[in-house]
Amino acid sequence: MISDLSESVTRSSATQSSATLITAVDAVTVPGVAATELWLTGVQRRDLAYLVEASYPFEACGLLVGSADTERVDVQDVFHARNLNVERARDRFLLDPDDHMAADRSARARGLDIVGIWHSHPDHPARPSITDLEAAWEGFSYLIISTTASGANDFRSWRLQGGKFIEEKIRETPQTSSSSEEES
Ligand SMILES: [Zn+2]
Repeated sequence: MISDLSESVTRSSATQSSATLITAVDAVTVPGVAATELWLTGVQRRDLAYLVEASYPFEACGLLVGSADTERVDVQDVFHARNLNVERARDRFLLDPDDHMAADRSARARGLDIVGIWHSHPDHPARPSITDLEAAWEGFSYLIISTTASGANDFRSWRLQGGKFIEEKIRETPQTSSSSEEES
């Protein structure tokens, strides 16, 4: 499911969310131990591909909501957020704090957390930039999707550990009949 917050969010104070979010995610892996795995459904992958392709050649961004422990991150929902960086939208993103808070509220209402942030790299590899590194928090998954004019072509996910990005495996969550995700 995609929750597009672009239209529904009312303006409010922007600074509250970061403190909440940092404490919300305490599932940091132990350095030297196996990296975490990020579990996405096939539908979520397709939804993300659709979103980054629709924004091309500009960066798309959003949040991953789900649950995390020391070994795996299970994504339940993919939220699309506004990229407030208009001037450098081809190679920077600034996730709208209001969208951030709305995703956080939605997550908490269901006993979930924000577990990561996704964004696209138009015409660039799915590797974190220096800007990504400077903006990153430990304990979050940073899913980067490389996209070109022909479409999304690479999904890679990264976690900050001791000031460095460590790649984590992306795994496909098996679809079950009880899954609430709708095909689009
Ligand atoms: Zn980036």
